Amino acid sequence: MQEQTQRVGKHRKHTTSQSAKGRVAFVAVATGAVSTAGAGGAAVAQTQAQPQSAVTEAAVEVDYQLTNNGVESEYVGGSSAPQILAIAEFKPVVNLGEQIAKTIEYNAERVQADLDNRGPSVAKPAEGAFTSGYGPRWGTIHQGIDIANAVGTPILAVMDGTVIDSGPASGYGNWIRIQHTDGSISVYGHMETLDVAVGQTVRAGEKIAGMGSRGFSTGSHLHFEIHPAGMGPVDPLPWFAERGIIIA
Ligand SMILES: [Zn+2]
Repeated sequence: MQEQTQRVGKHRKHTTSQSAKGRVAFVAVATGAVSTAGAGGAAVAQTQAQPQSAVTEAAVEVDYQLTNNGVESEYVGGSSAPQILAIAEFKPVVNLGEQIAKTIEYNAERVQADLDNRGPSVAKPAEGAFTSGYGPRWGTIHQGIDIANAVGTPILAVMDGTVIDSGPASGYGNWIRIQHTDGSISVYGHMETLDVAVGQTVRAGEKIAGMGSRGFSTGSHLHFEIHPAGMGPVDPLPWFAERGIIIA
């Protein structure tokens, strides 16, 4: 090759130009290769002094290696960064426990914010006038509370749960019973209309019925009972008060 280029000036100039061009491009590639892969850089250094055809082949090979190392190069902070800086980039991994703790803390905050943005976990079953409390009444025990309002006033599920009864019931006229996730059961009576069916899941505050005066009733009102898990009915007023809801 040396002999040939010396003898033919025209070709010599052309060859030199090609060679310089190829070398500049090659050095640029080699810089990236050194920071991402030591082996690639070594191969580059070896082939740098070789004839033009060899350089072209090496460049193809380096391109291939760079493609393979593409993911790795993202972590070392760019192809122009010296290798020592690339190692420094891994220092935060030493604080991995702290980072995870921060991530968990951040996640807990997000979960709480999400819960705060949702509907209430306990809702008042109806708006209206508190007309009768839990306890002895008319020679028997009134097992819940009464809230009076116009026929059709929305009756709301007090907590998330599953409807276990929805239809006619002695004394209640119509009743709805909802089993909640904590095992408690809420009971709603005297409704004019029923919006939910047995087996349906409901959310706290969701409308389940329209108020009425069906069954043993002297006027349009909701009769409401709460039965904590495995228990009979308890006074709903303190039960609501413990959950931040004041009925009366
Ligand atoms: Zn009642």
